[in-house]
Amino acid sequence: MAKLYFRHGTVGSAKTLNLLAVAHNYRQQGKSILLMKPELDDRFGKEQIKSRAGLEMQADVLVNSETDLLATDYSGIDCILVDEAQFLPGLTIEQLREISIAKGIPVICYGLRTDFRSNLFEGSKRLMELADSIEEVKATCHFCNRKSIVNLKHVNGAATVDGPTVQVGAEETYLPSCYKCYSEQLAAVAH
Ligand SMILES: [Zn+2]
Repeated sequence: MAKLYFRHGTVGSAKTLNLLAVAHNYRQQGKSILLMKPELDDRFGKEQIKSRAGLEMQADVLVNSETDLLATDYSGIDCILVDEAQFLPGLTIEQLREISIAKGIPVICYGLRTDFRSNLFEGSKRLMELADSIEEVKATCHFCNRKSIVNLKHVNGAATVDGPTVQVGAEETYLPSCYKCYSEQLAAVAH
């Protein structure tokens, strides 16, 4: 059995950069990795896994709610890396859990813990429940120097909790925030 990892962080915590560095290390050692991401994340073009720092790789598998990951042949694969795992259905996380056990392949998932309303995403919730290892990729609050734990949504410069939870590629800005600044920013617009 291999482990299922969940590495979560807010926006701006360099999760994807971390993923690409792990992928690079595996490949340098001559090992084979499989890069996965949810199909709906098309910020940078459908198949690209791209960090804000500019590095990018091509995703091998795009996952949607119809995808049966258990039907894939994983022979020769040393590690599975998943970007934006928060957007995956709970069932997909369960399949990744099964792959780590049945195939003995470590699965490392990167994603946001919560949405801009501070609620767990479906994929993140199932990862919190099933992962062997849960690690935080740390970032600093946009407004102070504390650690960020939530994502504050800004539309036209004002904080908001309105709009759909999954709004990939929209014009809104998401800011890493500690909970104190998050609640202060939202309180400021409520008055
Ligand atoms: Zn703060």
